[in-house]
Amino acid sequence: MSKDYLYSAVAANGVIRVIGAETTNLVEKAMTIHDTSPVATAALGRVLTVSAIMSRGLKNDDDSMTIQFRGDGPIGCVVAVTDAFANVRGYVGNPNVDLPLNAKGKLDVGGAIGKGYLSIIKDLGLKEPYQGTIPLVSGEIAEDISCYFAVSEQVPSVVSLGVLVGPGDDERNHVVCAGGFSLQLMPGATEELISVLEERVNKIASVTTLLKEGKTIKEIIGELLEGYDVTDETETECGYNCSCSKEKMEKALVSLGRGELEEIISTTGEAELTCQFCRTSHKFDKNELEKILEEI
Ligand SMILES: [Zn+2]
Repeated sequence: MSKDYLYSAVAANGVIRVIGAETTNLVEKAMTIHDTSPVATAALGRVLTVSAIMSRGLKNDDDSMTIQFRGDGPIGCVVAVTDAFANVRGYVGNPNVDLPLNAKGKLDVGGAIGKGYLSIIKDLGLKEPYQGTIPLVSGEIAEDISCYFAVSEQVPSVVSLGVLVGPGDDERNHVVCAGGFSLQLMPGATEELISVLEERVNKIASVTTLLKEGKTIKEIIGELLEGYDVTDETETECGYNCSCSKEKMEKALVSLGRGELEEIISTTGEAELTCQFCRTSHKFDKNELEKILEEI
């Protein structure tokens, strides 16, 4: 299977900015780590895909961004984090959520998420992280993100995201394909340009249909932008990579405080912390715990 990647380009003299992503492998990796049901895979996969796309907005190497969907549906929360290099990671509240297909015969991501809020938190190395929150439009992810761009950043955009889950040769579920794109209009877009793009976006098949046919995300975007000059094309990798380490987990133990640490040492005598993003467990024995206690 080909590697996951981001493709970006500028078109129509800089008025259109588009970023696409092929994320089949990273969504499959997320599904394997969290053992997600098909609808949970689709929800998490769409949020991971858009976080990879939005990583392009992070300017500095140390910047990071968290996308949180918090609804009243059975999946609970859906969270994805990315760094500036599109190393994404995420989790869902309930990975086992199982719902009937929606009226369109698709995985019911909106039903799994329910009504609630979308928050985007950007840590740009400033004193306080930047946070924007909007009420969910549909919980289908792409529509909600598009609304976020319009409300919080005043940028008209089209966002399309898709994750197709199906049985493989081993009869287990796999991610057949996953990807998406965001197309943003900068100031100076004419009414004519907007209506042409709207018509094309409405006419084009879903991202997963086109990816499954063997088209690349670059070709899909190429169809949308046909006839316009396309410049500044770039392709970069993206992937599911967690940045957790024993040192970082130590900070979580420190934050428990002396009292609780002393209690762990005198009762179980060891601690095991599991990373919520990659499910790796980090173990601390009695000696290590005592050393952490000394340093508080
Ligand atoms: Zn981890």
